Amino acid sequence: PARSSEELIRAEDSSLAHNYHPLPVVVSRAEGVWVWDVEGRRYLDMLAGYSALNFGHRHPALVEAAHRQLDQLTLTSRAFHNDRLAGFAEGLARLTGLEMVLPMNTGAEAVESGIKLARKWAYEVKGVAPDQATIVVADGNFHGRTTTIVGFSSDPVAREGFGPFAPGFRVVPYNDLAALEAAVDETTAAVLIEPIQGEAGVLIPDDGYLRGVRDLTRRAGALFIADEIQSGLGRTGTTLAVDHESVRPDVLLLGKALGGGIVPVSAVVADRAVMGVLRPGEHGSTFGGNPLAAAVGSAVVDLLSTGEFQSRAAELGQVLDAGLSALHGRGVAGHRCRGLWAGVDVDPALGTGREIGERLMREGILVKDTHGSTIRLAPPLTITREELEASLASLEKVLG
Ligand code: PLP
Repeated sequence: PARSSEELIRAEDSSLAHNYHPLPVVVSRAEGVWVWDVEGRRYLDMLAGYSALNFGHRHPALVEAAHRQLDQLTLTSRAFHNDRLAGFAEGLARLTGLEMVLPMNTGAEAVESGIKLARKWAYEVKGVAPDQATIVVADGNFHGRTTTIVGFSSDPVAREGFGPFAPGFRVVPYNDLAALEAAVDETTAAVLIEPIQGEAGVLIPDDGYLRGVRDLTRRAGALFIADEIQSGLGRTGTTLAVDHESVRPDVLLLGKALGGGIVPVSAVVADRAVMGVLRPGEHGSTFGGNPLAAAVGSAVVDLLSTGEFQSRAAELGQVLDAGLSALHGRGVAGHRCRGLWAGVDVDPALGTGREIGERLMREGILVKDTHGSTIRLAPPLTITREELEASLASLEKVLG
């Protein structure tokens, strides 16, 4: 007989590493913005796989692309060519306005790859002395979980107990151009930032910050690496979050939604002058650029090429923003919103973010807390206005 939610949670508890503390809901089925648990209860998914599900669960065009590819070819490794990869790279380059694609799988891998690319570029093109390259990052960053990446995290829970860490990183306050300017010097290979800091609580920098980072890196002869793994691909109402300031980074990191919520797909995208420093044998991945990933990634690029999802996120983002503004002083202490992406600071007297998340779960809404009393809202971009308004009403109810 099928096991109940409670039994499955107990089984997970004894047989899985405890590196997560999930909400006590066991999902077994999903469609669009909705998920169902094993008892058949329905929930609105307001996390959307940390933006990996920008197109909702099992978007028909993405599922079809995956099914079609499953019947043809799933893996070659890059030892051979496959017939899907070129089209994926061409499409992604066109969508992002950059020239070349390095396909990987997870977000952290894309970040690691971007770091390697920037260092190689610094030695070969900029002329930084061997092993002296530095990368400037922002306080409060979240770029993934590998040892190099957590080594420049400012979150003690992410770092402590995992050292020693790789050198070569300088941490400066986010949204502070003067501090950035002071940290950049002749050793700087790159400035690596999230255009909006997601895990930190959807922190949106001041207008002009991204443009400032662009100008500063150009003047300093350093690369601007934008980690758009969470902010990119429609979430903020534009294809990329840097589009809000009409800024073009040298290196773009994408992941999450690039795999349509079906397969892990990430990518580093850059112009030939940068990407060209990588030569055979210097970097790779067994699964990176596999035909299944490329087929789904191409279908994602196609969905984004009409601009429909970006427009939806922009329009419904205004509904979300207004709805949250209306809750200020009524349980919401403050919020930040861009497109269909919001960080909501709940009045700490009403509970932790976790507790609010549990209360929302009982109302049929799934969200994830970040730090303290902050929750983040990031529904699939396919959500309807009515569904969005219903979720705001549920939030009002649990805060009331
Ligand atoms: N970069 C950013 C901005 C992210 O938000 C995340 C994941 O939350 C990552 C990188 C890491 O991605 P992954 O979990 O696929 O390794």
